[in-house]
Amino acid sequence: MDKILRINMGAAGGPKATVTPIGAYAGLGGRAMTSGIVSKEVPPLCHPLGEDNKLVIAPGMLSGTTAAMSGRLSVGCKSPLTGGIKEANAGGQPSQMLARLGYAAIVLEGKPKEGALYKVLINKDGVKITSADNLKMLGNYDTVEKIKAEFGEKIGVISIGPAGEMKLAAASIACTDMELRPTRHAGRGGVGAVMGSKGVKAIVIDDAGAKMRSPKDPEAFKDATKRWVEGLRKHPVTGQGLPAYGTNVLTNVINEAGGYPTKNFMWGRFDTCSKISGETQAALENQRGGEGSATHGCHRGCIIRCSGTFYNKDGQYLTKQPEYETVWAHGGNCGIDDLDSIAMLDRLDDDFGVDTIEMGATIGVAMEGGLAKFGDAQAAINLVKEVGKGTPLGRILGSGAAVTGKVFGVERVPVVKGQSMPAYDPRGVQGIGVTYATTTMGADHTAGYAVATNILGVGGKVDPLKPEGQEELSRNLQIATAAIDSTGMCLFIAFAALDNAACLPALIDLINARYDLSLTGDDVVNLGKYILKTERAFNTAAGFTEVDDRLPEFFYKEPLPPHNKVFLISDADLDTTFNF
Ligand code: SF4
Repeated sequence: MDKILRINMGAAGGPKATVTPIGAYAGLGGRAMTSGIVSKEVPPLCHPLGEDNKLVIAPGMLSGTTAAMSGRLSVGCKSPLTGGIKEANAGGQPSQMLARLGYAAIVLEGKPKEGALYKVLINKDGVKITSADNLKMLGNYDTVEKIKAEFGEKIGVISIGPAGEMKLAAASIACTDMELRPTRHAGRGGVGAVMGSKGVKAIVIDDAGAKMRSPKDPEAFKDATKRWVEGLRKHPVTGQGLPAYGTNVLTNVINEAGGYPTKNFMWGRFDTCSKISGETQAALENQRGGEGSATHGCHRGCIIRCSGTFYNKDGQYLTKQPEYETVWAHGGNCGIDDLDSIAMLDRLDDDFGVDTIEMGATIGVAMEGGLAKFGDAQAAINLVKEVGKGTPLGRILGSGAAVTGKVFGVERVPVVKGQSMPAYDPRGVQGIGVTYATTTMGADHTAGYAVATNILGVGGKVDPLKPEGQEELSRNLQIATAAIDSTGMCLFIAFAALDNAACLPALIDLINARYDLSLTGDDVVNLGKYILKTERAFNTAAGFTEVDDRLPEFFYKEPLPPHNKVFLISDADLDTTFNF
């Protein structure tokens, strides 16, 4: 990958594309690339929807090669939801396709005239930007159908739904999967709103004629690939649990541990969670036919294959297999235990282009605020439909849980830096609370997945209910995650990488063989530290202080049943997390 595509959406006479050599950003990929460009080129105090913000889309360092699991796409900008730096990543096909066309990053810059909407075609012949007026306010599914009719089916699409066009702070960016469906989302932080502010409805990628990225040392690459795949296949989580039941295998596990946030974080267990567990979901999907449950990768080259397809009662495609976070957000968090309703909510979120975690948390807050009753699935569906219609209520909900909590006078709003917490209560899983509080991203489990060590016994064991050892655990995981997010690897590889001594060296060897480098484990750790420091410096310049690294008050005051614990990490200890 040797070039960067910059599109100035505000150029006189219409959008102007320029392809430049990678230059100072050589060697970066994924999150290292997005955070590198954003921190260097975006003024930290700019308005996230203004002309000075940039949307950076970057394949990982190993994307475009034959390395298994290397198809994640990073999207970065200043976040309209948090006001800080943002990296959200997604699976799907676009990362591999962009990398094979030689692009290390696409940077959308400037601002078009109000109301202008474009689509961008990228293929081996170059870049073409045309009007997307015929796609205005279409959902992601209809958008992709129209694009397919125009460009055929051997393409990948990165698009926004109506929420992105309305520049709502919960808006996501969709990437198409192997079936050319818009099911894989860079969900968090309102990245879709920034794409909407740039007036880009869709980026169409046609990689016909492009070759697989070849490693500098093919023999060493082949050898590392073999060890890498063996390590992933051997681990019980990446080799058995995730392929059999998908990520929703976690529902029973986290519920049993007492850390499953229920009805807007009121309890740590959901009485009827077995009705929405991964085991129940897999049985339902198998019973309804199709290709069966959990045998599906979101991009070519995935060997964990944690995904699947959800069919409705009539056996028709409804959505991809809802993931654990979605099943929790729209399920237990809202007191809903009906998988068909949850799958419908997932479909609506994907179509309107909103983050399922933010929307589920928002509906939970709305329920606490009296807009609907906990457990009322039809009411939840109706509320999400308001977002798609762009009614005043829908625009409030589509702006996320923090805004919704303010509008409806709710005190218990589970957000950090304005972003909703995911599916683990920090009082039942104290380590993840440190990550929620301190990550540069706002509450985000993927930034340092302490659940692995607190609950799953991966990478050691740290008691989830005690404060001891949690900052160190979160710190190390945040550093490792920032590095992994730069490779293009799906984060689920971390289960094997943390446990199997052969796995991490194999990953480093892949990078070395790809680029003819001689990186060591320490170099990778230093890359992670560098990324985190860069992001934190941006946030500090944007106005964040240590008081932004705290959980909402109710987590310190309300004990969470069944363990009846509050969040126990002191402010002073939280402030040591970035001591490196
Ligand atoms: S493990 Fe799951 S999320 Fe990761 S690349 Fe494969 S299908 Fe996508």
